[in-house]
Amino acid sequence: MDYKQYDLTEEQYMIKDMVRKMAEKEIKPYLAEIDEGHIPDSVWQAFVEQGLVAMCYPEEYGGIGSSFLDIVCMQEELARVDTTCAMLSGASMLPLPLVMFGSPEQKEKYLPRLASGEQKCCFALTEPDSGSDAASIKTTAIREGDCYIVNGNKRYISFAEQSELCILICKTNPEAGTRGINALIVEMDSPGITVGKKESKMGAKGASACEVYFEDVKVPVANRIGGEGEGFRLAMQSLEKNRVGVGGIAVGLAQGSLDFAIQYAKERYQFGAPIAANQGLQWMICDMAIKVETARHLVYKAACLFDQGHPDATKLGAMAKCYATDICMEVCTDGIQVCGGAGYMKEYPQERRFREAKLLQIVEGTNQIQRVVLGRKLFGKL
Ligand SMILES: Cc1cc2nc3c(=O)[nH]c(=O)nc-3n(C[C@H](O)[C@H](O)[C@H](O)COP(=O)(O)OP(=O)(O)OC[C@H]3O[C@@H](n4cnc5c(N)ncnc54)[C@H](O)[C@@H]3O)c2cc1C
Repeated sequence: MDYKQYDLTEEQYMIKDMVRKMAEKEIKPYLAEIDEGHIPDSVWQAFVEQGLVAMCYPEEYGGIGSSFLDIVCMQEELARVDTTCAMLSGASMLPLPLVMFGSPEQKEKYLPRLASGEQKCCFALTEPDSGSDAASIKTTAIREGDCYIVNGNKRYISFAEQSELCILICKTNPEAGTRGINALIVEMDSPGITVGKKESKMGAKGASACEVYFEDVKVPVANRIGGEGEGFRLAMQSLEKNRVGVGGIAVGLAQGSLDFAIQYAKERYQFGAPIAANQGLQWMICDMAIKVETARHLVYKAACLFDQGHPDATKLGAMAKCYATDICMEVCTDGIQVCGGAGYMKEYPQERRFREAKLLQIVEGTNQIQRVVLGRKLFGKL
């Protein structure tokens, strides 16, 4: 199948412009507060009012039904100002298994309130003894009549404390390996669910990551996404797509660091001239720009391939997440170096960006795991 799109459409440039202006107005004034761990309600309200949340949901369920590339562009522009808020907008992507594979009844029941921003949804896969090796989860969902009884605990679950719904990945048949895993839609106010410790994190502190405990939680069989035992496959397919959004966030974050570095290098004088006049420093910034631009193209291309249902989408998605987040770490490191001591100080945004960049190399599958995925695509089974 051919890859059909090269540049963004006029409408996509308009989305980027609109989101950039919105982020400057609604998020920038609160950056310090957000970095302390609190996102003002007004930010989510602005996302809802400007249609950013609805973009992630199909039109027939109250959304706008934007293309995946549109959504990635939106996340990129938010991250240019703040990664945490881009992750919050990305929280609208966490119910992807429901959006992609839910039954019409499940979508009818749950999507309208997610699309309107009335409810949020978290995605719970990771456990204390199961991270990269996702198939080794121990949380069980044992069938009893027309319900599953869920027991176990999850950790590092983003937005668990703010969410009314959870897409829970759990084992129904421990003997059946990846075919013994289900994806369930769980209502977070169900008896037996406790949201536990909120982790103290290095960065992106406004996006809480919590433990979630399940003790004899009853979940109707009707809330299973897909067929019995299909949960692992559906979860992996959702992650394969969602991680391109992380690539988009990385591009935006790196662009923010680059923008600041250019401005600082023009305004900071040493030896009687702007520091940008030193070729050694200028070239460092040029390399930052090259990395951001190449990552942007790869991320956009991967998003397009997902929109087209292209067979190479998974491969390009792993490349895009891995490359964009790796260069983001490099760019945000150099973004501090360009600013010298000021780059290290909390008064300026570069040190925050550095802390946030590290996270992106870990979430939605670490970059080592992206290389495992890519290796499988390149070499098959050896
Ligand atoms: C802030 C934050 C938010 C998160 N939000 C969520 C969420 O909402 N929902 C959710 O389910 N999870 C979430 N996670 C969990 C995240 O997806 C995991 O942390 C990630 O998948 C890695 O798992 P782990 O931390 O257990 O690391 P481990 O799997 O223990 O890995 C440790 C190291 O070993 C490497 N490694 C492991 N296996 C291999 C291999 N085969 N080859 C090479 N290297 C390997 C890893 O790359 C890593 O460097 C979040 C994590 C963080 C930090």
